[in-house]
Amino acid sequence: MNPLKPVLVPLKAKGGTAVIRRGLRILQRYGPTPGKMDSILGQFVDLLAQFNCRGTFPITASVLARNPAVIRRYQEAGTEFAIHGLHHVDYSRLTLAEQKQHLAQAAGIFRQAGVDFAGFRCPYLRWNRDTLQALRETGLRYDSSQALVWDVAGQFETPAYHRVQAFYRAVSADQHPSLPEIEAGLVRLPYAIPDDESLADRLHLAGSPAAMTGLWLAVLEKVHHLGEMFVLGLHPERFDLCRQPLEETLRQATAPGANVWTATLRQISDWWLARAGTRLQITQAGPGRYQVICTGGPDGLVVLARKAQVTAETRAGENGYRQVQAAEFTLLSDRHPVVGVSNRTPPVLVAYLRQMGYPVETATDPAAYSVYLDRPDFGPEDRRALLAQVEQADGPLVKLARWPNAASCALAVSGDIDALTVFDYAIRAWGK
Ligand SMILES: [Zn+2]
Repeated sequence: MNPLKPVLVPLKAKGGTAVIRRGLRILQRYGPTPGKMDSILGQFVDLLAQFNCRGTFPITASVLARNPAVIRRYQEAGTEFAIHGLHHVDYSRLTLAEQKQHLAQAAGIFRQAGVDFAGFRCPYLRWNRDTLQALRETGLRYDSSQALVWDVAGQFETPAYHRVQAFYRAVSADQHPSLPEIEAGLVRLPYAIPDDESLADRLHLAGSPAAMTGLWLAVLEKVHHLGEMFVLGLHPERFDLCRQPLEETLRQATAPGANVWTATLRQISDWWLARAGTRLQITQAGPGRYQVICTGGPDGLVVLARKAQVTAETRAGENGYRQVQAAEFTLLSDRHPVVGVSNRTPPVLVAYLRQMGYPVETATDPAAYSVYLDRPDFGPEDRRALLAQVEQADGPLVKLARWPNAASCALAVSGDIDALTVFDYAIRAWGK
């Protein structure tokens, strides 16, 4: 294939003036040695540390190979790194065999550099089914390449912003929850748009930190309201530009009472995998009495119950739920406190609800269930509507909390490192 294609395609998507602006920024940001970027990364990590947070930085393996000592130093201080391609190329244009080969080589570079890795983010957020397969076969636990757009840009929207969403093949948060999802063993962690690049280069807000701050806080507010996850993207090369929006987002997320779980992508994927191993068993113990037993969950996992009396201590939770302070208890209810589904419900729907923490049973008597679903069709774009339907149904219900210690939502700050020196940046053009 044309070696310039991976560069020319994104350049075309970016538009001319953005490219010139980016070129000037590159000269400001990168030096002949990693010194300049090292100092920027240091400020980034220090800001996170002020709020007791740690970041996740996907780095292109060829860049890591040229500068392993700098990265190892940050890892030793608690920063997480992930794989951002072997080279900075469009993976959706490579075959499965090529992607596997790239990943195997990238993993080898990380190992040789002494840098741990559990996850991946595609350059240009461009992935395909083969990418996911190659990640599984390479033993990676998570992927954070799916762009997910929050409808917050309003008056600032531009054609360039819409073009880049199409280029990323982004999905809308109106239909898709911003939640981890395990797909055949691989945890998918959607990446929030607008990220720094959208804010600065697509929405043209680089000169307006207050406007950028407003948009990230709007995302945080939505995520908080929905109990979901905000994977905030800030390339270290734009740290200066987006310092204030990041700082304000961290301030709100860590304010007393905000109850936001700030975590690395690895912590979130590990949590989600461990939580998926939980067994929530609910059996009828007599008329109007149910025995609830929760086994195998990770530390910090909380069982929630709504609109029912339970024989255990509880604490106030959110959206009408109480946090039950026991893994085994009796619940009083006139209906089964689980989600009942008709026998024509597709198995993918049942599996999805279970992963989201709901107990599910196939049943033929809707009236006996607090929530009863009869949805013969279920696709990815039906996820948000399904969760809303379950939550809006009236009646007693038991479920697993999404986040450790029943946190309201999760925030992960991540930033891709495409280059550490001007040399790294220049040779990206040849896909190396
Ligand atoms: Zn990148």
